[in-house]
Amino acid sequence: MSNKTEFELAKKYIPGGVNSPVRAFGSVGGEPVMIARGEGTYLIDVEGKKYLDFIQSWGPLIHGHCDKDIENAITNALKNGTSYGAPSLNETALAKLMCEKFSCVDKIRFVSSGTEATMSAIRVARGYAKKDGLIKFEGCYHGHSDALLVKAGSGATTYGNASSAGVPQNAVKDTHLAIYNDIKSVEEIFKNHQIGVVIIEPIAGNMGLVPAKREFLKALRKICDENNAVLILDEVMSGFRASEIGALKFYDITPDLITFGKVIGGGLNVAAFGGKAQIMDVLSPNGAVYQAGTLSGNPLAMAAGIAALNKITPEIYVKLESLAKRLMSGFKEAANAVKIPLQTEVRGSMFGFFFNEKEVLNYDDALKSDTKMYAKFHNQMLKRGVYLAPSQFETGFICTAMGENEIDFAVNCAKEAFLEIKNG
Ligand SMILES: *Cc1c(COP(=O)(O)O)cnc(C)c1O
Repeated sequence: MSNKTEFELAKKYIPGGVNSPVRAFGSVGGEPVMIARGEGTYLIDVEGKKYLDFIQSWGPLIHGHCDKDIENAITNALKNGTSYGAPSLNETALAKLMCEKFSCVDKIRFVSSGTEATMSAIRVARGYAKKDGLIKFEGCYHGHSDALLVKAGSGATTYGNASSAGVPQNAVKDTHLAIYNDIKSVEEIFKNHQIGVVIIEPIAGNMGLVPAKREFLKALRKICDENNAVLILDEVMSGFRASEIGALKFYDITPDLITFGKVIGGGLNVAAFGGKAQIMDVLSPNGAVYQAGTLSGNPLAMAAGIAALNKITPEIYVKLESLAKRLMSGFKEAANAVKIPLQTEVRGSMFGFFFNEKEVLNYDDALKSDTKMYAKFHNQMLKRGVYLAPSQFETGFICTAMGENEIDFAVNCAKEAFLEIKNG
């Protein structure tokens, strides 16, 4: 069995051979490896080659692959049936756990993907604010629902242009694009439009890792208050990744709604949105905003989520962050030693780096990064058994199964990789 023949077969039956586009390695070239299984910090491909995994399923696996506690929780739940379509105890348990961790979340509803969470949160926010106007930020990703599939158009205050074919112009006509970390671009939109909702990744992880500036988020909260707009923090990635309370550890603001996903499912399909009771109560059956899901609150997924969150403590982020910093300073030193500029960033278990001479504050800055260099680096690292995101514009993840040895292995690979790039 080889990666190449198996991927060819996948392409025969699945568009591009993948069920999510970035997996196809389009922006780094080469063939994707076909995964046979995961094991702690490693992915193992169908040829038996092992990779140190810095993607961890794009965030969910904060405890690594095949965590025993999560595995046990799922097998135990499995014996009681895989889906009920009726309320069950673990839904309340996970909801309670999350509401207790996030003081700004009074009530929460579970869905099956981050896409659903943000789409539903926006519907609730619009239903509450009774204004359709929506602000999102260039470079922020909130899943692939129509109204949110808009990125860098022709500038901050223009109407959104859909960044995908098949999205009707009408679906994005109320979506306004602002510039990340630039409050003036937000003020400009508020001046000219009725805005009911602002959605933002407080720690942007989908244009590479770009945290919001503190003053910026504070000003965003203020302008939402002044205009009766609902502020949604999209923490599908950063929640339980940046810290045990997501971005709120780093910012002194209170959102109206938060969206969650990834880590809260322990590797199964769970996402959620929650927030102030008076807003959440506009949801059906209490209120007039409709939202539903056949597999929402699925018992296997709830059990996995509870097991994952029960292992979350503030202390694990101290370790994860120190490992992330060790990795990033190692990469930076290795790059700088051969005169390649590298910008690095860490928030808890999240890390990111740009081949860029300047600090990256927004999407335009990110786009100025050297993607060809990233592709070369990615290829070199993969060859050496280190699995990094197949795109410059993604975030990397550390898991609790990692230790200094794994980080030092990756840093050594980076040293060799940069030398080979420079000499090759
Ligand atoms: C991953 C992600 C989503 C989408 O979640 P899916 O489960 O892939 O639909 C939404 N928002 C953010 C910030 C994300 O990182």
